[in-house]
Order: sequence, then structure tokens, then C-alpha cells
Amino acid sequence: MAFNRLDICGEWYNHEVMRYTTLRYGNTNTFFLHGDNGGILVDTDYAGTLPMFFKAIKEHGITVRDIKYVLATHYHPDHMGLISELMELGVGLLLVDTQAGSVHYPDEIFARDPRLHYKPVDESKAVVISASESKSFLNELGIDGEVILTPSHSPDSISVVQKEGVCMVGDLEPYEYLVGYQNNEALKEDWDKVLSYRPKMICYAHANAKSISS
Ligand SMILES: [Zn+2]
Repeated sequence: MAFNRLDICGEWYNHEVMRYTTLRYGNTNTFFLHGDNGGILVDTDYAGTLPMFFKAIKEHGITVRDIKYVLATHYHPDHMGLISELMELGVGLLLVDTQAGSVHYPDEIFARDPRLHYKPVDESKAVVISASESKSFLNELGIDGEVILTPSHSPDSISVVQKEGVCMVGDLEPYEYLVGYQNNEALKEDWDKVLSYRPKMICYAHANAKSISS
């Protein structure tokens, strides 16, 4: 299996079924999954990036009203900093049950910078689903994909995968790194899981998207 660099990252990518837009307004690649009944925002950048976020969605013709849920690939500060503000704007929080204990991990980090005026996420308002429930949940929104647990980066890390389509893997370490590790079983297990969906495209949070040719 060969990974090729792909230069269209950031552009609208029209796969047969999963349609998504890459939104980059800081240091993290975030993704908006277009559904028939409202879309899902996968990750946000750091706290304090809301003005840049608004600019980015506007550039892509997306409004806050189009965003039904926000889902973090994991609760590190550069993946979820806008969630509480988006919730105040009416966006729902989609939480995977394995993430419940990690939601407040970044609170202390953000609190060190009072200029951020960070408000902790109120997870009591979240819609909580398990990975096994995710496929039907996403399908109901008109999104052909599902959530799988890929905990090698952090215990709460998830990936959004589409069979023979697009995979958003968050901070999962790139596949090529596997050869550099002697015994990284956790990373290998995660990649085995992702690759079992035979994805055509891997979208990383901090690297260029890669297309896969078999
Ligand atoms: Zn991370």
C-alpha cells in the first residue's frame, strides 16, 4: 500500500458519498462533514480562534446554522477550543462515550491565559453515543461514515472513517512512522483498524492529507 502526497487538501473534496470541507484557520486541519440533515464539524482549533473560524466558514459558504454537531477527535486543546462557544451558538456537542472523562483535560491549560476567556465545556448537554452506535447516527444525518476508537495518541482519541472513502484520524501518528517504531502495538492496532476500511484518503490534523493507492 503506497501513500502519495495530495495537494488538494483544503479544497472541497467530492467523494461519492461523504462530502467534506477542510477548514484551516490556525494550526489544526478541521473538517466539516456535509450531511443532508445538518453537518458535523470534526475538531476545532485552539480557544481564541473564533473570529478566524467565522472567516473560514464564510469563505466556504458554511454558516453556524449548518453545523448540527461538533465532534472532537480528542480533547487536546488544539482540537476543541471553540466547542463551548459553538454550543452557546446552538451547535450540539456529539461526545463519544470513551471521551467523557477527558472533556476537561484542557481547562487548566486554557486557564493559564486569562485573555482567552475560556469557558469549560458543559458536557451535560452533550449527545453521547458509543462507537457502535455511530454509524446509524451519522447515517441519519445523511453522512456515510462511522466513528472508531483509535486510542494510541490519547485514551479518548477517535477517528471518523468511511468505507473505501475518507478517514479523519486526528492526531494518529502517520502510517509511515510505524516502521520507525520497534514495538508500537497500540499504533499498529489503530492503523489495522483504520486500514480495514480500505480508505482512499487519510486526513490528518497536522499533516497534509494523503491519498492511498492500493
Ligand atoms: Zn493531540
